[in-house]
Amino acid sequence: MADCIFCMIANHEIPTDVVYEDDKIICFHDAEPQAPVHVLVIPKRHIESLDDVTEDDQELLGYIMFKIHEIAADLGLENGYRVVSNNGEDAFQTVKHLHFHILGKRKMTWPPG
Ligand code: C5P
Repeated sequence: MADCIFCMIANHEIPTDVVYEDDKIICFHDAEPQAPVHVLVIPKRHIESLDDVTEDDQELLGYIMFKIHEIAADLGLENGYRVVSNNGEDAFQTVKHLHFHILGKRKMTWPPG
C-alpha cells in the first residue's frame, strides 16, 4: 500500500535491520527499542489491524504466531518475552499495518501502560 512505512520495509524500499524474512512475513528491529531485544513481525501483505483480518487470514495468523516462537528462540529469549499487538486508537497503534512486537531481555511489568 502506498504511503505505508511497513509496506516499504516489506518491499525493501527503505533500509531495515532484518532479523528474519520469508515470502509471507518479515521481522526487523524496532527503530525505537523499548527493551534490549525489540523486534517487529509483520505480514508482508498490507492488513491494517486485527480488525481487518478475514477468515482467509487464519492460516497466516497461525503462521505468524508459530514464527514468533522460532524467532524468539533464535534471539535467545529463553527466559521469556512479551508479544504485543496494538490495534486501533485506544491501544495507541501508530503504524496502520498489522504488527506484533516481540520484547525481551528485561523484566516486564503488568499492567502495561
Ligand atoms: O504498535 P505501534 O503502532 O504503536 O508501534 C509501531 C512501532 O513501529 C513503534 O515501536 C516504532 O518504533 C516502530 N517503527 C519502526 N520503524 C519505523 C516506524 C515505526 O520500527 N520506520
